[in-house]
Amino acid sequence: MGIPLRQQIKVGAYVLRQHLRGRKRYPLVLMLEPLFRCNLACAGCGKIDYPDPILNKRLSVRECLDAVDECGAPVVAIAGGEPLLHKEMPEIVRGILARGKIVILCTNALLLEKRIGDYAPHPRFTWDIHLDGDREQHDWAVSQKGVYDRAVSALKLAKAKGFRTAINATLFNNAEPERMARFFDDVTAMGVDAIMVSPGYAYERAPDQQHFLNRRKTKELFRGIFARGKGKGWRFGNSPLFLDFLAGNQRYHCTPWGNPTRNVFGWQRPCYLLGEGYAKSFTELMETTDWDRYGTGNYEKCADCMVHSGFEATAVVDAIKKPWKAVAAQLRGPKTEGGMAPEIPLDGQRPAEFVFSRHVQQALADMAHEPPPPTARRRGAKHGGAAAAATVAAK
Ligand code: SF4
Repeated sequence: MGIPLRQQIKVGAYVLRQHLRGRKRYPLVLMLEPLFRCNLACAGCGKIDYPDPILNKRLSVRECLDAVDECGAPVVAIAGGEPLLHKEMPEIVRGILARGKIVILCTNALLLEKRIGDYAPHPRFTWDIHLDGDREQHDWAVSQKGVYDRAVSALKLAKAKGFRTAINATLFNNAEPERMARFFDDVTAMGVDAIMVSPGYAYERAPDQQHFLNRRKTKELFRGIFARGKGKGWRFGNSPLFLDFLAGNQRYHCTPWGNPTRNVFGWQRPCYLLGEGYAKSFTELMETTDWDRYGTGNYEKCADCMVHSGFEATAVVDAIKKPWKAVAAQLRGPKTEGGMAPEIPLDGQRPAEFVFSRHVQQALADMAHEPPPPTARRRGAKHGGAAAAATVAAK
């Protein structure tokens, strides 16, 4: 398994404490998105389709650390956008580690070789490099040739410098089990500490809508891959029961509050994948989100979701409640033959609402009323609010 024992114990103890305190809903992984700007434009990404003033906005170091403190989750995954474009990222990472958290820094690795000197290996710090498959597959997924080679070169450098290094593979409907299995063999031979896998989420704003997986295909694909991995020593960074869920053997509802998301808009409702509204604080997110409106069977946009950010928390809590089940899944690996767990019926789900444009307009209006930063004020008051917002963003 690709999750260090110390981290498993830390997260397990945290979950137990929440149960002993009688908390019904609690976070496991804070998804911190300090910016949406990226240096790639992947066809399956639904995170970066914003006007420039929003793409240029950054969460400050203070805002990031406040989010970590407010949320209290033991793990912080820094995503985006491309986190290495944020000039204060080393300070953000140091601040989160100083709080005793586990930090996973997700990156496409294009800037990793240039910036790696700003970071030091730490037992609670992991580079999580985006790699969706072999050279041809990954370069297709990120819509740019040469990215696979640069990511692999950065991965090898990070390993050589003593960093814990994982890869993060998102699978689409053109993934082939045999080829993915060969890719997992390759990255295992490169010495990656963990392979994180997930099917892609069908973001409504992703430019390519043709290659997202539905639930049945997801389960068949993962069965095909896992069947080829038996005895190969692949080290997954996902929990054994989440992998078993991907292979169709667990009937899980998502836990959207398990991976709460803080980005430049605020605290995103209801989850990392869906932006259906924003709360000003973590407490407001937890207390005022109508959670029952979301999830597979409840909402059309959730019908095909099997993404780790929604279901990993469900699997972890299941493992804590029924450790024998998790141990069995760990020992035998995901079941790849026989009947699958029954599906959640979709006939009662409410139809999709399309709120993206409204939120973008609201965010732009809010930014226009933000006070300019001190540097902009010194330059003179002749810029209006919107121009000031762009100045904030240009950092
Ligand atoms: S199923 Fe859950 S995690 Fe997935 S998009 Fe819906 S609310 Fe989010």
